[in-house]
Amino acid sequence: MPPGGDSPFDILFEPVRIGPLLARNRFYQVPHCNGMGWRDPSALAAMRGVKAEGGWAVVSTEEVSIHPSSDPTPFVEGRLWDDADLPAHMQVVDAIHAHGALAAIELVHGGMAAPNYYTRIPPMGPGHGVLANQHYAPVQSRQMTRDDIRQLRSWHQAAVGRSLAAGYDIVYVYAGHALTTLQFFLSPRYNQRSDDYGGPLENRARLLREVLEDTLETVAGRGAVACRIAVDELAGHLGIGRADIEGVLGIVGELPDLWDFMVGSWEDDSVPSRFGPEGGQEEWVRGLKQLTSKPVVGVGRFTSPDTMVRMVRRGVLDFIGAARPSIADPFLPAKLAEDRAAEIRECIGCNLCVSGDYTVAPIRCTQNPSMGEEWRRGWHPERYRLLAEPERVLVVGAGPAGLEAAVAAGKRGGEVVVIEARREIGGRVAREARLPGLAAWRRVLDYRQDQIGRLPNVQVYPQSAMTADEILEHEFGHIAVATGSTWRRDGVGYHHPMPLDIDPSADVLTPDDLMDGSRPGGRRVVLFDDDHYYLGGVLAELLAAEGYRVTLLTPASDVSEWTNNTLEQHRIAARLLGMGVEIVTHQSVERIGAGGVVTACRFTGRTAEREADAVVLVTCRSPNEQPALDLLERCGQMGGPTPEVRAIGDAYAPGTIAAAVWDGRRFAEELEGPDPGAPFRRNVPALELDPWA
Ligand code: ADP
Ligand code: SF4
Repeated sequence: MPPGGDSPFDILFEPVRIGPLLARNRFYQVPHCNGMGWRDPSALAAMRGVKAEGGWAVVSTEEVSIHPSSDPTPFVEGRLWDDADLPAHMQVVDAIHAHGALAAIELVHGGMAAPNYYTRIPPMGPGHGVLANQHYAPVQSRQMTRDDIRQLRSWHQAAVGRSLAAGYDIVYVYAGHALTTLQFFLSPRYNQRSDDYGGPLENRARLLREVLEDTLETVAGRGAVACRIAVDELAGHLGIGRADIEGVLGIVGELPDLWDFMVGSWEDDSVPSRFGPEGGQEEWVRGLKQLTSKPVVGVGRFTSPDTMVRMVRRGVLDFIGAARPSIADPFLPAKLAEDRAAEIRECIGCNLCVSGDYTVAPIRCTQNPSMGEEWRRGWHPERYRLLAEPERVLVVGAGPAGLEAAVAAGKRGGEVVVIEARREIGGRVAREARLPGLAAWRRVLDYRQDQIGRLPNVQVYPQSAMTADEILEHEFGHIAVATGSTWRRDGVGYHHPMPLDIDPSADVLTPDDLMDGSRPGGRRVVLFDDDHYYLGGVLAELLAAEGYRVTLLTPASDVSEWTNNTLEQHRIAARLLGMGVEIVTHQSVERIGAGGVVTACRFTGRTAEREADAVVLVTCRSPNEQPALDLLERCGQMGGPTPEVRAIGDAYAPGTIAAAVWDGRRFAEELEGPDPGAPFRRNVPALELDPWA
């Protein structure tokens, strides 16, 4: 589906050879985790299939473990341990092939990054030592013997054979993200062996070379072999650096059919937009393509077609690799091909998708509510089931929930009116996007505003607050109340179930106050973060940048603790500390006086006084449910047919922006009533009855 003619993006639609295969264009969905893995194979297959349908030339799996000695539990990834795992993979391959894309499988032996909690096999790596990437697990890995090395090679070969049997076109040899035995052998910081697998680069690269050769031998031209590798571990002289990777390419540069380059660990590879620009890996990847004749794929949260073209023209990459941009918009290639670039649902770089993997729940995406729901609920990112009747729908509130409800109901053929109290639409997204580092979040609004502009059956009226009676006069069949939520001013949150003791003369502000432009009266500010996601840290950054002396106080062990699930906690801590914000952990605010606060240790209860001119409370939110309650009450008083009234998004239950967008879609999907069965489909394991018989 090339654009044809003289589109500036033509180069992105050139077919490219990968060994014996021909990729139909340069769009390559690199392997990415999804929290579904072996547990939700049908949902996983449908998700990958939608990517293929959206025009990606190559669609890859997440990491797929080759053997029980590589068990990433509690994370749920792919498995290919024996033939019992084949049917799940065949489903994935079929879904990808059904739409003309090449299917790639990322085989992994996690070694010292796999705690093996499920399989109970002691992990193994190049040497005896603690685990990599495992957050202080009380597990050590043992040094692999030569026999272990021989076994690992045979497990990998067996998995390659099974990959071909499942129908995969491209098989990965994986040495990246500080997650694989092959990388640990390559890296001087993990490999201190004294045999011919350790020491000089040639020795450290021996296992990688052997596994590449084994893989080529097993594939034997029936598919292609890719190698994904960390080109820099960002660990200075201790880790793999430029000289190492250039040396590796000198040794094995011509072995695989494709190189997939990435930088550091997952935290470095998937930097949120708050901390890194599009194309941020170019600095490390540039120049490597010139050291091999094989095609190269790389990532960089690419959303701008101009940047993609530049990557190819400047000889940095042959393929535009994407995980997050393909999650936010599986149809990115198709839209570019059809000259519909303005309609791309651009990734905002929030990393909420990563939290699916970290919370072991199916992937969700702030921009794309259908992500992970393709099979479970039958949602498609682009296609909507038309309504039997053109239902009349009113949406009250134009935040992410309301806008998504309006777009989805509009695409289903509804007659939709959106009323918004403020002059500006976008709700929390418009407001939060003005905070430091969050500008890209506005894309949640931009995409939906653009779509509404293309839907003649959807009208938006800003500055239009209406009473329940006024609304009911218009005889809508369905009313979504998407009026958002309000940050509490009384300190109630995780730590305090009851309102705090607050002196009425104290200067207390909420996130809403700060976003509306209010500021503390004095310079010394205590910010009590009992919300633990991003906002407390962002507001501390805002105030510190404006010259306030900020103390961020949290009962948690980390600042913005939940952002461990979005790969940014360490960056938030570094940024705040770098700006001079004082971070106090394990402490709560117990009382707020006129000139300061009383704090308490979470463990001992010991209290202390701390001077402060103002206190910012980032604790929890109350849903703005009154409009919904008023409507329901008036409907209850009316005779005759009444509209369906539903609070959605934060007005129903405050949560993430992704949850609000998802709820907007759900409202539109259920306009003709919810599915009468279970709310969604799931794979139920086939049980072997009477296993002791
Ligand atoms: P969500 O995340 O659930 O979409 P937001 O807080 O982002 O919630 O958006 C709610 C939107 O609803 C805001 O733009 C707000 O101004 C608007 N709003 C709140 N109350 C009313 C109301 N009574 N009538 C119309 N719009 C309202
Ligand atoms: Fe991008 Fe956020 Fe969606 Fe992930 S969740 S793909 S970072 S928009």
